[in-house]
Amino acid sequence: MDEESSFEESQQDDPPLEVAKECGMCKHPMKDPVSTNCGHGFCWQCINDYVQSIPAEAMMCCPVCFLDIEAYTLILE
Ligand SMILES: [Zn+2]
Ligand SMILES: [Zn+2]
Repeated sequence: MDEESSFEESQQDDPPLEVAKECGMCKHPMKDPVSTNCGHGFCWQCINDYVQSIPAEAMMCCPVCFLDIEAYTLILE
């Protein structure tokens, strides 16, 4: 019995799977996820559409927290 319970404990030591990250724009699980410098995540397609929808002279800002986005990077998994 002791062995069984310690076996269960060791399984619980595994880090829990992260909650499926959802895109801050479409609210679906991120597809080709990108991360902004403010730490929010979006589908590459979503952020790309967003970037193209704003005037070139406007500051890009995060659609979630409205911090200026200086860069966004593709998260390779
Ligand atoms: Zn999306
Ligand atoms: Zn943000």
